[in-house]
Order: sequence, then C-alpha cells, then structure tokens
Amino acid sequence: MSRIFNFSAGPAMLPAEVLARAGDEMLDWHGSGMCVMEMSHRGREFVGIAADAERDLRELLAVPQNYKLLFLQGGATLQFAQVPMNLLRGKGKADYVLTGEWSKKAVKEAKSYCDVGIAASSEDRNFTYAPKQWKVRPDAAYVHYCSNETIGGVEYHEVVNVKGIPLVADASSHFLSRPLEVSKFGLIYAGAQKNVGPAGLSIVIVREDLLGNAAKGTPSVMDYKLQAGADSMLNTPPTYSIYIAGLVFKWVKQQGGVREVEKRNIQKAALLYDLLDSSSFYKNPVAKEDRSRMNVPFTLADAKLDAAFLKGAQERGMVQLKGHRSVGGMRASIYNAMPLEGVQRLVEYMKEFEAEHG
Ligand SMILES: *Cc1c(COP(=O)(O)O)cnc(C)c1O
Repeated sequence: MSRIFNFSAGPAMLPAEVLARAGDEMLDWHGSGMCVMEMSHRGREFVGIAADAERDLRELLAVPQNYKLLFLQGGATLQFAQVPMNLLRGKGKADYVLTGEWSKKAVKEAKSYCDVGIAASSEDRNFTYAPKQWKVRPDAAYVHYCSNETIGGVEYHEVVNVKGIPLVADASSHFLSRPLEVSKFGLIYAGAQKNVGPAGLSIVIVREDLLGNAAKGTPSVMDYKLQAGADSMLNTPPTYSIYIAGLVFKWVKQQGGVREVEKRNIQKAALLYDLLDSSSFYKNPVAKEDRSRMNVPFTLADAKLDAAFLKGAQERGMVQLKGHRSVGGMRASIYNAMPLEGVQRLVEYMKEFEAEHG
C-alpha cells in the first residue's frame, strides 16, 4: 500500500488509521453482521454511533451545555442560506465581514434574505489580511465571518468582540485544528471535508436561545430547532458520514485532543512559512499575523515554472498543490491528517526546485 501526500483543500486527506479501521469494519461492524451503511438510523447500533460522535466532539471542543450540536447535510454552502433563514428572528438585517472568496459567497446568499451590512472588508488589500475593527449595526440580527479563508489562506487567530450581537463563524477549513471558544459564538458551522470527514456532512454548533424563530417557509429539515429536537434525525441522516466523522473525533482524542493537534499544526505551518520568508523565489502575500495554519498559498517567481513545479511534486508523491483558479500559483492545504513528513517532503522539494530554477 502506498499513500500519497494529498495537499488538496478539500475533500482532503483523512487519517490513515481512520480509513483502515473503516475498512476493517466494512462488512461487519462490531459483530452486527452489517456495514454501518446498511443500518437503520433508528436502530440501537447506529443511534449509539451517532451518540458517541456527538459526545466525543462535545468533549473535544468543550461545548457548553446550552449549545446544540447538529449533524446536517448540504455542506457549508447550504449554511449560507440556512443561517439567515434561522437566525434573522424577524430583524431583517445582518452584518457580514468580507475577507475573501468564501465570505463573498456567504454575503451573496444572505442578500436574498435580508439587508446585509458590511461590518469590515479586506478588499482594499486584495483580501490578504483579517480586519479586526468591525462596525456592527446595533440592531443587526447577527455578525457573520469566515474564520479561515481557505482560498486566500487568511485566518483569524483571535475572536473579535462583537458586544452582545450573536457571532456566526464559517469555520469549515480550520474546525478541530485548534481549540475553539464556543461560548463567544452564537453559531459555528463547518463542512466536514476539510478536517472532519466525507463531503456533504456539515456540523452546526448553535446557542439554544437563538433557536425557534425560523422564517416562514423554512423547510423542516433546515429548521435548526426541529433538527435539534430530533437529534439531527428529522429525516434519514448521512449515516456513514457521521460514522467516519466519529472515527476522526476518536483519532483526534488519541492524538491528545485539539491542543496537541494545534501544536503540530503550528509546527507544520512554521516549516512552510519559514521557507517562504527566507526565499526570494517563493512568495505568500498574507499579513504575517493573519496567516492560515491550514491553507498556505504561495507563488513562484515565474508563473511559467508552475507546470514544472507541479510535475516534479507529483513525481515525488505530492499532489493537489495547484492554487485555486481565482488566485493562481500554488496552495498547500495541511489539515490535521497531513503528517509532518508530508510537509517536510514538500519543503525539501521546494528548496531543491529553487536551487535549480531560482
Ligand atoms: C469548502 C468551504 C465551503 C464550502 O463547502 P461545501 O461543502 O462545498 O458547501 C464553505 N466555506 C469554507 C470556508 C470552505 O472552506
């Protein structure tokens, strides 16, 4: 068996131990004689799997009792609509922070539902930093931001104080990569395919008092309150995805929890950024204090070398390093499941490539 180092932004690498265990349990989960995919979501076995997943995630992030944890479908993109449908609570306006491609999409979707105010924007410097001064309207229903911009590689390392207005975060691409101060948020959501599991599953953590005011016409499966009341099983949930996410939570616990995983993520990111900073051949445009530990975009001195760089990387067992079409260049996504050796191999290769072409 050979596993490649996959630097994709998502769907991304999963821990090999998790995949191996899922393989072992494929035909017969714990003596049940069934694959998890074949189980009734109302049956004892699956209800136990889902309860374990919820318990482990609550423990990992120390989710307070007054927050509901939901396993939903439709990816993070559906949350761009589901958040305003549920959280406007008749207020008709919400504020958004604009820091890149994903927050732009969230703003665009929200405009179908309410008056959107821009509380802060980094568009003036081509989305290369995370603005910390936000102008929030006191009557806004909530403030939304993207806590890690996957495409631009911009991460908020501190939670901005919004003085009592519910704070909503799209944390898709750094969820579980570091501890999270859940009590500072009204709602946190994340698509699973970056750090948690299979695409399509999304996780929502929401403060209880914000529930129960979904807009008229909200489909039942999109009503957080109804889903919370049904343990995220208002209809058949994505059972296999929840099972895999549960295995990933157990894996994170085995690694020592989010604090330990964070240490490794800091170490991995530092290896790459140190190289970028010491080189005149590679460049990363993001303000140092706002650089993402998960997604590291960089350009080569000459874009004509991009194809040769990618080809050499592939030959050395490293794939998916091509940058997003909107920014070009390269991007290394180094989520929890990317081993240190993968980043070391990339850094070695980058030095070699620079020596040859720089
Ligand atoms: C990947 C991503 C999304 C979109 O996720 P889908 O599952 O494709 O809907 C949204 N926000 C951020 C920050 C992402 O990284």
